[in-house]
Amino acid sequence: LWRSPEPKSHYDVVIVGGGLHGLATAYYLARNHGIGKVAVVERGWLGNGNAVRNTTVVRSNYLLDESMAIYEHSLRLWPGLKDALDHDLLFDPRGVLGLVHTEHDVRNTQRQIYANIAAGIDAEWLEPADVAAFCPIVNLAPDIRYPVLGASLQRRGGLARHDAVVFGFARAADRLGVDLIQGSEVTGFELVNNRVRGVKTTRGPIGAGKVGLVGAGRSWLLAQMAGFDLPIQATPLQALVSEVLDQVLDTVVMSGAVHVYVSQAHKGELVMGAGRDPYVSYGQRGSFHVLEHQAQAALELFPIFARGHILRTWGGIVDVTPDASPIIGLTPVDDLFINCGWGTGGFKATPGSGWVFADTIAHGVPHPMAAPFSLARFETG
Ligand code: FAD
Repeated sequence: LWRSPEPKSHYDVVIVGGGLHGLATAYYLARNHGIGKVAVVERGWLGNGNAVRNTTVVRSNYLLDESMAIYEHSLRLWPGLKDALDHDLLFDPRGVLGLVHTEHDVRNTQRQIYANIAAGIDAEWLEPADVAAFCPIVNLAPDIRYPVLGASLQRRGGLARHDAVVFGFARAADRLGVDLIQGSEVTGFELVNNRVRGVKTTRGPIGAGKVGLVGAGRSWLLAQMAGFDLPIQATPLQALVSEVLDQVLDTVVMSGAVHVYVSQAHKGELVMGAGRDPYVSYGQRGSFHVLEHQAQAALELFPIFARGHILRTWGGIVDVTPDASPIIGLTPVDDLFINCGWGTGGFKATPGSGWVFADTIAHGVPHPMAAPFSLARFETG
């Protein structure tokens, strides 16, 4: 465990949630805005949530302009983080291949590629023969349930090491004077005339000029404590790893249609993301049938894995919004800000999200890249 300091009685900004986005926000508050008195208040240990439960896929090839902008901002920050944080995050741009299996998929994926290119984001269309050359272990047989008709490729996409990202941001924030307070659950807020003035925690009250909520998976609960509602559902999302195998896969392969995404860790385990359970839960575990479905899909696309074994599975709680996009910005309570709803895709967004959320908190108005992701959009459209 990180040695936690005694909480001070008052901070300029208190960040609730010591996951990736909370730590990145605290770091950028101190680094980009010179705000020194910042605390991150975490109910467990740093990174215990989705931060260290995800499958670390990094990419920016989304369809809509607003999404492309923030994910691309993030992707451009990733390569420089090793030097900026003085910590090796093992960022590895080994490419992200998105397989497509139906004519409908082909059209949608090509539309996305054109949108990416128009926005200055690298994106390529691969025919099946190109897929075979780029990733020879993909099953390209024409008689499987969902034959591969092509793929998108973003070469700058890839992986990073999630615990290194947690500790990279935590150490850098700590060096800039941020207090990282673990084992301290926020149980309520001090509100005066609809303005937040502090947080109530299991280690006592802490005064705050501003508060940022970054409690992925528990955002809805935090909002309820502050007296407002979020259009969020918390659901389990699982992942698994195989035993250590010889290196056979040097890219990230995703398939939305049969639902599998797989990469191979530097150590050799196959890392696979499974699906979401279709019900609300705050348990960090999901249903077995989801893993079964995942393994079936993996075997169909990668017969070479047939004699591998699942070594370990785990789950996180992701919060999902109706439009599958995050919520970043102001709340109905003054000086209380929120960053949540990243669902299954927030790892890749870590530096960009922290950057724009820190800016939003520092200035009290949404950063231009955060503005489209306001909570108010669910009322105004
Ligand atoms: P978390 O690490 O969950 O941080 C939230 C923190 O808030 C937790 O530490 C929690 O303890 C704390 N907290 C909550 N309530 C309180 C409270 N009341 N008081 C104090 N602290 C509190 N994204 C990708 O981009 N690529 C992927 O490949 C990918 N794969 C995934 C696979 C799985 C299995 C899962 C579960 C997620 C995946 N994601 C992926 C999504 C990504 O992990 C999340 O979007 C992202 O980690 C969320 O941000 P975070 O790290 O800040 O969240």
